[in-house]
Amino acid sequence: MRIRVDRSKCSGHALCATAAPDLYTLDDDGYSNVGELDVPAGMEELARRGMAACPELAITTVR
Ligand code: SF4
Repeated sequence: MRIRVDRSKCSGHALCATAAPDLYTLDDDGYSNVGELDVPAGMEELARRGMAACPELAITTVR
């Protein structure tokens, strides 16, 4: 599973990081600095939780 955070949509709510802090890291201003990321095995559910938490729909899965 690979995820992408569209940083142009990110508004710095930090809800992704609250849901899954080991996956969704933030910069010093509270915006996502993830870009694209291969989700480690066993962390897919956490990744989905963070994705669902984003009110800007900035997080998607990459084919
Ligand atoms: S929840 Fe969405 S808008 Fe908020 S920091 Fe994470 S990616 Fe950005």
